[in-house]
Amino acid sequence: MTKVLVAGGAGYIGSHACKTLAAQGFVPVTVDNLATGWAQAVRYGPFVQADLNDRAAMDAVFADHAPAAVLHFAASSLVGEAMREPAKYWRNNVMGALTLTEAAVAAGCLNMVFSSTCAVYGEQDGVVLTEDSPLAPLNAYGSSKRAIEEILRDFGVSNGLRSVIFRYFNVAGADPDGEVGECHRPETHLIPVMLEAIDGQREALVINGDDYDTHDGTCIRDYVHVTDLAEAHVLGLKWLLDGRESRVFNLGTGSGFSVREVISHARAATGRKVPHRFGPRRPGDAAVLVSGSRRAIEDLGWSPGHSSLKRMIADAWAWHKKGGYPG
Ligand code: UDP
Repeated sequence: MTKVLVAGGAGYIGSHACKTLAAQGFVPVTVDNLATGWAQAVRYGPFVQADLNDRAAMDAVFADHAPAAVLHFAASSLVGEAMREPAKYWRNNVMGALTLTEAAVAAGCLNMVFSSTCAVYGEQDGVVLTEDSPLAPLNAYGSSKRAIEEILRDFGVSNGLRSVIFRYFNVAGADPDGEVGECHRPETHLIPVMLEAIDGQREALVINGDDYDTHDGTCIRDYVHVTDLAEAHVLGLKWLLDGRESRVFNLGTGSGFSVREVISHARAATGRKVPHRFGPRRPGDAAVLVSGSRRAIEDLGWSPGHSSLKRMIADAWAWHKKGGYPG
C-alpha cells in the first residue's frame, strides 16, 4: 500500500485527510509535534511525534517509511495571533516547511500537497477570488503561506518537486461519523466559538466588527466542509501520482455568508439562541473572502457536496455535543 507522509496529521484538517486517505487505500504516516494537535486524532496510520524543524527526525521518517508524497498541513493558522506574533508565523510556518521540503527532496520524494490559504489574497474590492487574483496578504499568516508557495515553486525549478497548492477558504464542520473533529485550545474560529456560546461554555460570541462595507456590516466568508477538503487532498495526491504538473487550486464553494447569516443558520440548525454582542474589528481581517472554485471542480473533479452551511453547523454541533478529545 502506498504510504503518504502527513505533516500535521493530528490537527483538525490533517486528521480528516488521514481518514479519507485510509478509506481510499493509502497509509497516512502522521508527523506532528502536538503543539496544537491531539494524539487521540491519529487513528488511521502510524504516528511519529516530531517537529518539522528537526531535520534529523525528518530524514529518519523519510528513510523509515519511503512515502510517495507529502501532505503538508502543519502550521500556525490564526489571523489575530499572526498580527501580534509575526515571528511565530515566519519561524513555524516558513522554516518548518523549508526543512520538510529539503528533507523530502533529499530523500527523492518529489510530490507535495500543500495547505495554503485564501489569506494570501488579502482585500480585493469584493470580487470573487480566482487563482490568478493578485496576492496581497494582510497578515503574517497569509504572508508566511505565500512565502511557502514560492519555496515550493523554487524547489520545482531546482529539484523537480511537483506540488498541488490548495488555497483554503473557511474550513468548518466535522467528520459525519464523529471520529474526528475540530478541537483548538483556545478556540477562536467562528462556528465552534458560536457553539460554545450556545451551550453556555462562554458568555457570548463577540462579533468582530459590524461596520464593514458588506450588506449587513459583518465580514463575509466562504465556508467549506472539512470532509470535502479532505477529499480534495486525495484528488490532489492522485493528480501528482499520475505525473501531472504543479497546480494551484482554490477550495471554497463560491458562496459567501456574513457573520450575522452564520448566526441565523446556527439558530435554525440547533434550535437554540446564539448569545452574542458586538466588538471592534479584528486587525488583519478582510471584509469579504469568497472563492472562485471552478478550477478545482472542473480540472480536479472535486465536488463540495457536504458544504451547505446547514450541514457544516449540524456536523460541528454533533461533534461539540459529543465533547471529543482531550482527556
Ligand atoms: N469572528 C467573529 N467572532 C469570533 C470569531 C470569528 O466575529 O469569535 C469572525 C472573524 O472576524 C471573521 C469570521 O468570523 O470575519 C471568520 O473568522 P474565523 O476566525 O473563523 O476564520 P478566518 O476568517 O480568520 O480564517
